Amino acid sequence: AKEHGRNRLQYHIHRPDAAGVMPLSEQEELRSAIGAKQFFLEYQPQVDVASGRIVGLEALVRWRHPRHGMMPPGQFIPLAEESGLIIPLGLFVLNEACRQAKEWQVMGLPPLTIAVNVSARQFGDPALAAHVTEALEASGLEPQWLELELTESTLMHDVPRGLHVMQALKALGVRLSIDDFGTGYSSLAALKTFPFDRLKMDRSFVEALPRDETTVAIASAVISLARRLRLAVVAEGVETDEQLEFLRQAQCHDAQGFYFSRPVGPGEIAKILARAGD
Ligand code: C2E
Ligand code: CA
Ligand code: CA
Ligand code: CA
Repeated sequence: AKEHGRNRLQYHIHRPDAAGVMPLSEQEELRSAIGAKQFFLEYQPQVDVASGRIVGLEALVRWRHPRHGMMPPGQFIPLAEESGLIIPLGLFVLNEACRQAKEWQVMGLPPLTIAVNVSARQFGDPALAAHVTEALEASGLEPQWLELELTESTLMHDVPRGLHVMQALKALGVRLSIDDFGTGYSSLAALKTFPFDRLKMDRSFVEALPRDETTVAIASAVISLARRLRLAVVAEGVETDEQLEFLRQAQCHDAQGFYFSRPVGPGEIAKILARAGD
C-alpha cells in the first residue's frame, strides 16, 4: 500500500494481505469502533447550477480513531466491505443520515435530498429494503427525500437480482442514483438496464474541464445523454469557476465539489442552510 501516496500512510491501517485475509485485530478494532460510536457523518452540498440553490447533501462517513485521529473512508470502507462490518456501519450511516435530515426539516430549514452511499455488500444484503424502511419509519423522513447512491459494478455483478432489488427500493419511494458514472466497464449498459433517477458524473470527467478537448467532448455527451434519458445529472468534484461555467453552458443540472463546500459537520450545514433560506 506504500505506493498509494505518502500522506495517507501516516494513518494507514494495513490492507488485507494477498490472500485477502484481514488480520483479526483490525476487524476487532473496526467492530468495537462501531459500538464505541467513533463514526460520524459529514455532509457535502449539491447545488443547482442554474439557481445556485442547495438541493441535496451527500452523507460521507468518517472515523474518529482514538489513536490515529480522523480517518478518511478510503482507508476503512474496503476493510469494512471485506469483513462484512459494512453492514452494521452502513446501517448506522443510513439511520443517522435520515435522522439528521428530518431534524433539519423540523428546524424549519429548506427540505433537501439526503444521499447515502450503498456498497456492494450492503446491496447484496437481503435485508436492505427492510433496513431502508426502518430508517425512514424511525426518523419520520418521507422517502422522496432519501437517495441511494449505487455504483455500476454493484449492479452489473448480478443483473436480474440488481433489477429486482432496485425495483423493491423504488417501490418504497426513494430515489436511486448511479455513482462515479463513466468509470466502470459497462456504463451505458447500466444506464440502459437500471431505473436510475439521477446520474453522478465522475470527478475524472470534470477535473480537466474546460481545457482538455476530450474531456469536454465526453462531459458534454454525458450531460446530453442523461437529459435525453430524463435523468438529473450531478457533476462531481467541481473545484473551479471555469468548470462551473462550462457545466452551466452544457446545462448540467447540479454540481458538487470543493468549489461550493468541502464535506462538513451538521452544525456547519445548518448554518449554510439557514443563510440560504433567508
Ligand atoms: P464518493 O461516493 O465518490 O464520494 C465523493 C468523494 O469525493 C468524497 O471523498 C468527497 O470528499 C470527495 N470530493 C468531493 N468534492 C471534491 C472535490 O471538489 N475535489 C476532490 N478532489 N474531491 C472531492 P471521501 O469522503 O473521502 O469518500 C471517498 C469514498 O468513500 C466515497 O466516494 C465513497 O465511495 C466512500 N464512502 C464515503 N462514505 C461512505 C459511506 O457512508 N458508505 C459507503 N459504502 N461508502 C462511503
Ligand atoms: Ca457517492
Ligand atoms: Ca462519486
Ligand atoms: Ca468515487
